[in-house]
Amino acid sequence: MPARPAFAALPHVPDHPGLERDVLELWEREGTFERLRERNRGGPTFSFMDGPITANGPAGIHHGGRTFKDVFQRYKAMRGFDERYQNGFDCQGLWVEVEVEKALGLNSKREIEEYGLSEFAQRCKERVAHFSEVQTEQSKRLGMWMDWNNDYYTFSDTNIEYIWGFLAHVHERGWLYKGHRSTQWCPRCGTSLSQHEQAGEENYVELEHPSLYVRFPLRGEREGQALVVWTTTPWTLPANVAAAVAPAAEYGRRASGDWVAVDRYPDDDFVERLRGEELVDWRYHGPFDHFPAQDGVEHRVIPWDDVSLTEGTGIVHIAPGCGAEDFELSRVYDLPVLMPIDESGRLLRGYGDLEGRSADAVAEPVIESLRERGLLVGAGTIVHRYPICWRCKTPLLFRIVDDWFISAAEIRQQMLDANATVEWTPPQYKKRMDDWLRNMGDWNISRKRYFGLPLPFYPCDCGHLNVIGSRRELEERATAGLDGLTELHRPWIDDVTIRCEACGRDVHRIPEVGDAWLDAGIVHFSTLGWNNPSSVPHGNATGAAAGLTGADLPDHAYWQKWFPADWVSEMREQIRLWFYAQSFMAVALVGQSPYRQVLTYEKVLDETGREMHKSWGNAIELNEALDRMGADVFRWIFCEQSPSQPLRFGYGMADDVKRRVLTFWHSVAFFVTYAGVEGFDPEAEPAEADLRPLDRWLRARTAQLVRETTDAYERFWTPGVTSAFERFVDDLSNWYIRRSRRRFWDGDSTALRVLWEGLTVALRVVAPVMPFLAEHLWRNVVNEDESVFLAPWPEMENVDEALVAEVAEVRTVVTLGRRAREAAGIKHRQPLRRLVVQGASAARAHADEVREELRVKQVEFGEVEATELLLKPHLPALGPRLGKELPSVREALARGEFEELDGGRFRAAGHELGPDEVLVERRGREGWSVAADAEAGVTVALETSLDPELELEGRVLDLIHRLNSMRRDAGLELTDRIAITLPASAAELLRHADWIKQETLAVDVDTNGDLVEPQIAKA
Ligand SMILES: [Zn+2]
Ligand SMILES: [Zn+2]
Repeated sequence: MPARPAFAALPHVPDHPGLERDVLELWEREGTFERLRERNRGGPTFSFMDGPITANGPAGIHHGGRTFKDVFQRYKAMRGFDERYQNGFDCQGLWVEVEVEKALGLNSKREIEEYGLSEFAQRCKERVAHFSEVQTEQSKRLGMWMDWNNDYYTFSDTNIEYIWGFLAHVHERGWLYKGHRSTQWCPRCGTSLSQHEQAGEENYVELEHPSLYVRFPLRGEREGQALVVWTTTPWTLPANVAAAVAPAAEYGRRASGDWVAVDRYPDDDFVERLRGEELVDWRYHGPFDHFPAQDGVEHRVIPWDDVSLTEGTGIVHIAPGCGAEDFELSRVYDLPVLMPIDESGRLLRGYGDLEGRSADAVAEPVIESLRERGLLVGAGTIVHRYPICWRCKTPLLFRIVDDWFISAAEIRQQMLDANATVEWTPPQYKKRMDDWLRNMGDWNISRKRYFGLPLPFYPCDCGHLNVIGSRRELEERATAGLDGLTELHRPWIDDVTIRCEACGRDVHRIPEVGDAWLDAGIVHFSTLGWNNPSSVPHGNATGAAAGLTGADLPDHAYWQKWFPADWVSEMREQIRLWFYAQSFMAVALVGQSPYRQVLTYEKVLDETGREMHKSWGNAIELNEALDRMGADVFRWIFCEQSPSQPLRFGYGMADDVKRRVLTFWHSVAFFVTYAGVEGFDPEAEPAEADLRPLDRWLRARTAQLVRETTDAYERFWTPGVTSAFERFVDDLSNWYIRRSRRRFWDGDSTALRVLWEGLTVALRVVAPVMPFLAEHLWRNVVNEDESVFLAPWPEMENVDEALVAEVAEVRTVVTLGRRAREAAGIKHRQPLRRLVVQGASAARAHADEVREELRVKQVEFGEVEATELLLKPHLPALGPRLGKELPSVREALARGEFEELDGGRFRAAGHELGPDEVLVERRGREGWSVAADAEAGVTVALETSLDPELELEGRVLDLIHRLNSMRRDAGLELTDRIAITLPASAAELLRHADWIKQETLAVDVDTNGDLVEPQIAKA
């Protein structure tokens, strides 16, 4: 189909949100995305695996990184790659549960159970169904092209079954075990939390807690004396079983009988001193021996090398049921383990009047009881960093619980080896991943919750652990409960019992559900049909996902085609979450990384660099941002920042981007104006002979733009794309168009054609970043009927590097000339006599352009002698060497009494000074203004003195400027001719009448003594 550009005039400023809505409709109407996919079908593949977005609320600004996913998928599509475009929703686990609890006003596990698990599961599913729809609409508005309605949902039975298969596999390898461990526990959520969930900085806050010094009275020979311990967790004291000392440290007894570490109280008087090891095995009365829970506990002193001698008393209270290290020590010293709190953080039976009260609430009665019994040495408060639940922000406690783990011991090195094959952008994050892998603990996969992956573990009293690997296996081995099993979730799954494969008895599933990162980690298998014998239509629309998606479950050959992913992209915190989970599962199942390349980026802050919080009033809603600034501007903000720094976002930044985009917009507007006037035909190639040096230069710059942006896209480096584009637009607008203005006025079709080429290439290479603006303008200047996304990627042509460098040098000279003019305070319209250029020999061929641009009569290339050298001693270097000789050198430099030697050296007051020992400044001499670009090695000197002739020309130019403004204000067309009448005071300017006529399209210029201001009239 022949291209039919519209060349419609553009408004002065684009209405981003408005044109974006039009383009969305256009794409919908024309089926652009489907046509693009059809065109690329069977081409080379680019496999992107979408990290699932949690369908638990509307998408926010922090989901702006979805831009990157779309940018690179669009780029690859424009290059002809076949892609999958499957979007993923994360659907179950603690985060969904907590929000549903909030919505229902439930605040504990007991209340959930009273509400009913099947109803609760229903509400969770409804929430996911609702917000996956909301997020889909938001993503479309952002410009994301995905295979909507064929999304994967992590709570589908298919996904669950694939995780079951994985768990059965790790069990076969002997990696699965039940651990009795001290873990961080959220009393509100009633579950333990894993290392990777809790590792983020944001999961620690400054909190104020009690700070107590407590006496543990000694028994036997030392009756009447006491150990003094320090604690910030009063609720743990009733579970005390031991006190730890540093064996090598010195301990002292005060006259009062209290024992503490001498290092902690160096100024105190001690009546007896002993080494820590001599205290070991002393027996003492526990602080709460009267509670039944303490029956039979013999409290004693144990050695521990890690006892801190920088805080507390140097004697540490040990309660193995309340802390990880305490629990480890209980194994070494065979200490009893008292667990004082239940799932909701309340004290259990056996703790006297503290029973039923929360860990926080018992602080006061514990302190009071200690005080009454003379055991309290001191009580105050302390503010310290303390872990909080990543989901509900409740301060965490420690509990000993049974959790299920996958051992990391054997897989650790394999995962490091797999990561060695991955290319990370930015590259330094590869090491972050390595660090995480080296330090990761075993994977705690169990959560004592409801709406999550049901762990398929059926432990039998005979000692055998049955692990079910698929739904079919479950059905084959079930003894009851299959009838009501509509989906693989609680409560339905809990009714299914199976036959133990070792002893034949009926066994129940454990109640625990799985870590949500299992759900997201398996998707490289569950969505691609790994080990699936034949394709199942809508095979991912199973269980809770039924009716939400049409996604098929492909067969194994499909998996082989698309695995591993060529590329994945998520925020940096996903190193310890999704990047880790998917790698763990893929390395376990198939021994290789599930992704070849990664783009990761830092989190989003507001434009001043603060975190965004609703309560701080600086949070921005995604929908509002898209409505106000438009998706293109939104995307540009994300793309132009380095992903290794926190990404900033705000309306001030949006205004700045809009202003910069305007330069491009105006270039296109300029083009369509003249193209329309001249009846431009893009099909007509200009003759080689008609090309001027400037045309050849713009073609070279255009080729360079293609090379630079293509290279940046290939490196997944959006800042490289945006900066190359902006530099090109600056050259295009501020050099090519500026320098060619007269040719456009004259209807020069060669200039129009070369400009058109530059614009159309720029539209194609920027389209992945700004898809709406690119499409809108493409339809105007190239083809009304066909999308820019269906156009071929611009050809990679050789760049005439010498020509590009030459003009770059000219632009440097012009920039410096303008700077010299500004420094001298001379306005741009005032012609000047002379410019001297040093160090830009390639610009010599463009002396005429420099002359015109800088309004100087003459440009000379050679040594800039118009400068004065100013030298100062560089004191840090020179001071130590010269010592008391320094003042004489300094004074000589100040008087200008020095000699310039070669190699940047100088001689002054009899001393030779190296280049590092002096600070050099060049200043224009009287009547000259100097500017230099040290990096480019270019210096220019502008002669600033004026004579009457120059002054008159300056006045003429002011007048021309004024007349042209009047033309615009009068609404005249570019081609309209005028007649000018000047006041008598301007008569002198008529010496330049022809010049004035030419620059203002005037047919006549005259004076009239009655006027005080110039007048124009259409001729
Ligand atoms: Zn919580
Ligand atoms: Zn059994």
